[in-house]
Amino acid sequence: ELAAAMASWNSDTTASPHFVLIPLMAQGHMIPMVDMARLFAARGVLASVITTPVNASRFRATVDLAADAGLPIRLVELPFPCQEAGLPDGCENLDTLPSKELIVNFFSATAMLRPAAEQYLSTLQPPASCIVSDMGLPWTSKTAQHLGFMSAVADDEPIQVPGIPHRVEITRAQHPSNFGNNSSMQGLRDEILESEAASFGVVVNSFQELEHGYDQLYAETMGKKIWTIGPMALRDNTTMSSGKVDRGNKASIDENLCLGWLDDKAPRSVVYVSFGSLGLVTTQQLVEIGLGLEVSNHPFIWVIRAGEKAAEVDQWLSEGFEERTRGRCLIIKGWAPQLLILSHPAIGGFFTHCGWNSTLECISAGLPMITWPMFADQFLNEKLVLDVVKTGVGLGVKTPSAWQVEEKSGVLLVKKEEVQKAIETLMDPGEEGEERRNRARELGEKARRAMDEGGSSYNNMTSLIQDVMNYSKRV
Ligand code: UDP
Repeated sequence: ELAAAMASWNSDTTASPHFVLIPLMAQGHMIPMVDMARLFAARGVLASVITTPVNASRFRATVDLAADAGLPIRLVELPFPCQEAGLPDGCENLDTLPSKELIVNFFSATAMLRPAAEQYLSTLQPPASCIVSDMGLPWTSKTAQHLGFMSAVADDEPIQVPGIPHRVEITRAQHPSNFGNNSSMQGLRDEILESEAASFGVVVNSFQELEHGYDQLYAETMGKKIWTIGPMALRDNTTMSSGKVDRGNKASIDENLCLGWLDDKAPRSVVYVSFGSLGLVTTQQLVEIGLGLEVSNHPFIWVIRAGEKAAEVDQWLSEGFEERTRGRCLIIKGWAPQLLILSHPAIGGFFTHCGWNSTLECISAGLPMITWPMFADQFLNEKLVLDVVKTGVGLGVKTPSAWQVEEKSGVLLVKKEEVQKAIETLMDPGEEGEERRNRARELGEKARRAMDEGGSSYNNMTSLIQDVMNYSKRV
């Protein structure tokens, strides 16, 4: 029975140790769990055994003896819902069941203890360091999860990703699986993983030279074929793809107006600012970004997707911002012709949310970027940019933005001074900035070569087609 008990650790290592044990109300579980509690107590760990009045009375003498000897051990009583579960009064242990038929009632009574146990645990002082849950009470492990005991780390504590060539640290909150991590999405997430496991292989919008071995590591780990066949936005081989303007959506700005504005600017002097197609930034945060762009003193193209807040944002823009930044700011409200902009020689860098497409489009354009990851895979994309290919300037944002959440006032993930500093670093004419720009340009060249005839992505596309045709012949 002891082996069946499962310990789940809390992350708060600063608090004094307090172990909470919740044994199934049966002799074969209670006896060893009380022994275990005494053993913990003998090591100076406060041990609380949660049980019911009848069971507590059986162990009172043993526990009192230990407590009198100075051991930090205690019994905690929660009322057992005999009546509600259709059990005779006082039937609180499997050994007092009058008939085997009542076993179901007994277990339903144990399950009914959960709310009271959770209520007790959530206000417990000192707080529990861990719950030793009993496999006979499966709800206790759910309680542990519910109260946040199940992981060894807090949501915002960085952990190093094991088994990969680079030192990459990520927090639980930043992990892609945290995106859409609620019960209504769980079914979909399971289906996605199942369908991936059932597939013949995985086609990836990336290129081998960018992957630094991660494509092969993925193939080996997952036991899947993988074909990197991108960057697909370079599908015409030379520059960014044709059809650059109304890509995915009708651009909200006239192509010639946009190009004319860019043509007037010095080479590599303009910062392009866009956070993808999903629009996550609150009005308050948007204003802060605007103020940061304003003080940075570089020309910028700023894509604003304000949605329902459009009127509010328009008002703010018209109350001085447009005036103060006239001539060096081009605001695009709605959909920007992103590839057209990124491929213009006046663009010097991209302030991006690290969506994979935007990241890859920036890499393909041979440009450095400022990174502000928000959700899903974006924190990992940022790691690739900052730590592996080293073509970015990180804003240092650690907290994910929930997807399409209501505005919460007072929450600013990025301050205007940070925006200003990041832009200055990105556009820095000195050695550091120059080296970053060189790395970005070389990576852009590698991207183009990968797509050229004979390049890695071109060849992978050939293999993909052959693999599929060979497979089709066999079946
Ligand atoms: N895009 C665009 N104009 C916009 C916003 C986005 O053309 O105003 C394109 C962008 O070039 C990219 C895609 O939409 O190809 C966005 O994908 P990404 O993975 O970067 O971010 P997501 O929108 O999925 O967060």
